[in-house]
Amino acid sequence: MIRQTTSLAKRQGIIFILSAPSGAGKTTLYNELKRIHPEIRLSVSCTTRARRPGELNARDYRFLSEPAFRALQERGEFAEWAKVHDYYYGTPKEPLDQSIRAGRDILLDIDVQGAHQIKQAYPQAVSIFLLPPSLMELKRRLAARGTDGKEIIRRRLANARGEIREIIRYDYYVVNREVKQAAQVLSSIVEAERAKISRITKWRIDPLRQGGGPKVHGQRRQN
Ligand code: 5GP
Repeated sequence: MIRQTTSLAKRQGIIFILSAPSGAGKTTLYNELKRIHPEIRLSVSCTTRARRPGELNARDYRFLSEPAFRALQERGEFAEWAKVHDYYYGTPKEPLDQSIRAGRDILLDIDVQGAHQIKQAYPQAVSIFLLPPSLMELKRRLAARGTDGKEIIRRRLANARGEIREIIRYDYYVVNREVKQAAQVLSSIVEAERAKISRITKWRIDPLRQGGGPKVHGQRRQN
């Protein structure tokens, strides 16, 4: 993987939002992306749901009681929050703003309601929806987990249909047919967004700073 770096331009950190219906393979994709882009941080959300075996507090989520969650919410400490499958989830605002200021890119694994709120509050955020190859394949993957009963699988599929309808609000989609290929597509989106001229907040090239802006079609642009 060729990584573009330059000391000539300075930009803010980018928020990448990744949403997916349950069973689309977000966790494996995220792990693969982390291998390609270890510099991208993952935002740690707060939640009122119980910790699952293998999960660690402050690494996977900040596990909070409902009153503790509500207190943070009332103090305006969430960039977005939503009720998902009967529990509350929220993205802490301060670490997000810190990442943007420091020029570090951050990935948010949040649902469609949260994605919409983040896009409204941070219009430069990039939203990506992860799709399974088909609903049939999603059903097969949910059943293959072997952990959920028929009724839960049915409910997850119905939820997935509703979530996929929201894809229209997203900037990009990635189909997770094979995890390595999907990670490459995701990585291309990351690289393209990083290379956008409009994201550059400061050029560190002396002639540009001193003389009337960059050259456009051979002429100096007049600001
Ligand atoms: P799980 O409980 O299985 O880890 O996550 C359930 C759902 O909640 C997933 O769709 C996940 O993307 C979403 N989620 C996790 N953290 C947040 C958050 O901070 N805000 C919102 N809106 N959704 C979240």
